[in-house]
Amino acid sequence: MNPARGSLLGIEHLDTAEILKILKFARRMNPDKPRPLLKGKRVVLLFYEASTRTRSSFEIAAKVMGAHTVLIQSAGSSIEKGESLLDTGYTLRAVGADIIVIRHPNAGAPLVMAQHIDVPVINAGDGLHEHPSQALLDAYTILRNKKSFKGLQVSIVGDIFHSRVARSACHLLGKFGVKVILCGPPELVPDIAATIAPGVRVTRHLEDALRGTDVIMLLRVQKERLAGMQIDLPDYISRYQMTTARLKMAKKDAIVLHPGPIIRGLELTSEIADGAQTRILDEVHNGVPTRMAILARAVGRMR
Ligand code: ASP
Repeated sequence: MNPARGSLLGIEHLDTAEILKILKFARRMNPDKPRPLLKGKRVVLLFYEASTRTRSSFEIAAKVMGAHTVLIQSAGSSIEKGESLLDTGYTLRAVGADIIVIRHPNAGAPLVMAQHIDVPVINAGDGLHEHPSQALLDAYTILRNKKSFKGLQVSIVGDIFHSRVARSACHLLGKFGVKVILCGPPELVPDIAATIAPGVRVTRHLEDALRGTDVIMLLRVQKERLAGMQIDLPDYISRYQMTTARLKMAKKDAIVLHPGPIIRGLELTSEIADGAQTRILDEVHNGVPTRMAILARAVGRMR
């Protein structure tokens, strides 16, 4: 079954023209100048997992475009009583949802929803699979700082194994010929990660990842997903934490990204978190126009 038209389920199956179209449209969106492209539409935010940035920026983006938003979280809804994903979807369609934005702990949940419910579905993060809106807002942020993807090197450091952000970023950057270096210990960055997309390589050595790089993306160690894994955090910090001294190994004008939530003192120091080369809050800011474009696309108004 084909997913509902307008859905955004991942980056893997989007072509470069479509990605550029979304990014170009996002450049035209200004959250301070409302554009009623979703006037009267109902956007349901269905969150089975915690979220701060993704949820709030989808909600703000929808409201700026004139939509009504409804937030449903597992706690306090019928999900808690055992209602299935699809029955929740049929219910949301019956109350008149025009777009469903879903975050779910299982990879593929948004796809199943989009295949069965005739409503555009936007993946706001599904298990270890993809986080397409994050990859798009990161691409938007990179292009605001670097002008083009040509000749760029992006180094992604941290818990790649558990990161849907890293997976979506590799797919997107790989499509544009960007050199991507994944860096971390073998438990968090298995060798097979190099096969996610063309142009991706794995290293265990931070210096190797940072030398001459243009963009450093830091990732949180996802403790809630580590079940059974032995990660020696003091050792991780001593080998991979981003510090001011280590940042000097990268290009002078390198920028630092992080999808959040950041854990100061673990994957980065406070000096880096608040430093001049860091664009973490810009990413959050850019999330709103990017998600405005994604929502407009969902209802066929990205023109
Ligand atoms: N916020 C991102 C996600 O939901 C990254 C993270 O949680 O570390 O995947």
